[in-house]
Amino acid sequence: MLVSVVSGLLCVAAVFGLSGFASATGPEALEETLGKIRWYGHDTFRIDVGKVIYTDPYQIRHSDVADVIVVTHEHSDHCSPADIKKLSGPDTVVVAAKQCEGKLGGLGVQVVYVEPGGTTMIDGIEVSAVPAYNVDKSFHPKERNGVGFIVAARGVRIYFAGDTDRIPEMKEFSVDIALLPVSGTYVMNATEAAEATADMAPAYVIPMHYGSVVGSEADAGRFEELVKSKVGDRVKVKILGISAGTP
Ligand SMILES: [Zn+2]
Ligand SMILES: [Zn+2]
Repeated sequence: MLVSVVSGLLCVAAVFGLSGFASATGPEALEETLGKIRWYGHDTFRIDVGKVIYTDPYQIRHSDVADVIVVTHEHSDHCSPADIKKLSGPDTVVVAAKQCEGKLGGLGVQVVYVEPGGTTMIDGIEVSAVPAYNVDKSFHPKERNGVGFIVAARGVRIYFAGDTDRIPEMKEFSVDIALLPVSGTYVMNATEAAEATADMAPAYVIPMHYGSVVGSEADAGRFEELVKSKVGDRVKVKILGISAGTP
């Protein structure tokens, strides 16, 4: 696999295209992608866009092989070397925040390190790192360069926020599906996440970062109510149950 760096743009060249999907685009591709998002608790999602993408794998109890694993920052419930290893095969590409280098360096997996603003192309999937940081707490300082990701495939743009507060950059994001933390404490709470949803106006929003380390289902429920009262049906909230076992 060819990895090249061209004026700040990281490229992992495609050796084969997306498979397993019809050539749907537009609303059809959006619905199809939405239907293939599974949640494994906390911030771990499996997103099938023809390639299998995992986000911040943590406490994985099933077997699977990811094509791409995105890792937002070094905290142990987001950057877990054992869980990343568990989902990795010989062709898996991990796209991780640069601050994870110390934890992933010796793992024997292929890692592309990114900072906010970096874009990586992997087999036709565009993976863009965007800022993620706290504005009124100190767990995730902006200067540590933690990231969220916007993953674009077949014209569908999925935003995986990572550990962040509502930040001004969100108003500039163009996304179809947003995966947002709602727990409060280390990240934005349900009220702030509803405001962030209004900033971005995606077609769908899925709450995360509750139910294990911090936050509860009540936070997800409150988030749904707040989004409804703020933007009505313009953004649909989808609360996922936790998936069990191998997909
Ligand atoms: Zn964190
Ligand atoms: Zn977290």
